[in-house]
Amino acid sequence: MNSTSSGPDTRKPSHLFYQSRLRRPLVARAEGIYLWDQSGKRYIDGTSGPMCVNIGYGNPRVNEAIKRQLDQTSFAYRLHFENEAAEELARELTAQMPGDLDRAFFVSGGSEAVESCIKFARQYALATGQDQRRKVISRFPSYHGGTLGALAVTGYEPLTAPFAPMMESMPKIPAPTTYLDRDNLSPEQRGLKYADLLADAIEREGPESVLAFLMEPVGGASTGALVAPDSYYGRVAEICKQYGVLLIYDEVMSGAGRTGRYLAADHWGITPDIVALSKGLGAGYAPLGAMIARTPHVEAVLDAGGFMHGYTYAGNPLACAAGRAVLHELLDHNLMENATLRGEQIQAGLRRLAERFPFIGDVRGKGLLVAFELVSDRATMAVLPKELNAYQRCVDLAHEKGLIIYSRRTRGGIEGDHLLVCPPLIVTAAEVEEILSIIADTLATFAQESGLPDLG
Ligand code: PMP
Repeated sequence: MNSTSSGPDTRKPSHLFYQSRLRRPLVARAEGIYLWDQSGKRYIDGTSGPMCVNIGYGNPRVNEAIKRQLDQTSFAYRLHFENEAAEELARELTAQMPGDLDRAFFVSGGSEAVESCIKFARQYALATGQDQRRKVISRFPSYHGGTLGALAVTGYEPLTAPFAPMMESMPKIPAPTTYLDRDNLSPEQRGLKYADLLADAIEREGPESVLAFLMEPVGGASTGALVAPDSYYGRVAEICKQYGVLLIYDEVMSGAGRTGRYLAADHWGITPDIVALSKGLGAGYAPLGAMIARTPHVEAVLDAGGFMHGYTYAGNPLACAAGRAVLHELLDHNLMENATLRGEQIQAGLRRLAERFPFIGDVRGKGLLVAFELVSDRATMAVLPKELNAYQRCVDLAHEKGLIIYSRRTRGGIEGDHLLVCPPLIVTAAEVEEILSIIADTLATFAQESGLPDLG
């Protein structure tokens, strides 16, 4: 049994179900970067839930904003009333966006945000007389959401395979897993090589049929914080422009400040046509996501008869009030700057640990979206034997030691263990050292029980 607190489980049978029968500890309270279960055990949240609790738990200003909104009204239907929380959040959020990405459509999560992007792109094509454009090219590996539209553009077989017969298969190109490449290209050349795969795919599919290209600028859990060479981003944007293909950035995980800039796109000076946001936007205080689109595109869709899309909870006042207070916290406390500094500290710490544990492979990421791989041979990047179940075992060991981290057994479309270290953006230098020390302990125990080297 793993991921539960110690001692016999005396709880009643659960009427809830998720992926498996595994019971998790019952949360008692949470504050800052910490959670406590009912037995009183404390956990550091080294992964911000699923990379979403960006400003930590129990923030009094956000709690207060939610209560104030609750006293005013928790709901007003968007087709009957405007609400100030949504209006103001749209204004303040789009002020963070590059170029003319000035219009927001609020939803309740990341999958809804991605669905909205895809449906908006299609309606823009229809509004501008490009009816044949319907294919969305995306990448593998990638994760874009659990609903069928978002799943059709997701490049992760274990999740998509059961539903493949029910979805129209969308074209995928490889994401640039350059650290696995064994060629003599410079990083710049590699970036261009991977970007040119998009031009090839557009040509292959028929340029008149391609609607959009969808990508995570910094990969999430499916790739383990994969960052492409700098040259990739500009070239992809150029190719999209050349073919009249809309560029959609899925910043559900990388956005809202996590990588040290509000959008990861800002690192490369890219203005995508459409952006999906969620996770850090509501930061765990409310289910909230957004599609951000460029004003001329929105105007074209509205002129052509309106955006045929919506959800009951789109622009929900409570969620938007929470999102607005989260944004204020992020900006007023320079949390993006902190994400950059603490992210560098984590990567440096992991590189130091790699000297002690030769089975640490690549260490990568941006800001507080950081991952490291576990390999049997760093030179060849060969994976560890599957039986070691490294990704799960390390998560369980860390959990026992009071640290929550995130992991997957996948990389670059092939098997491979990676772990993500993505604490809330409020994390302090001392807390990062504590996280690194628990990771060191975890890897030492894992090395000992798996017969792997520990040079410490
Ligand atoms: N896109 C990306 C990049 C994500 O990481 C996720 C969630 N992990 C989603 C979309 C889907 O978001 P949600 O789970 O909120 O529907």
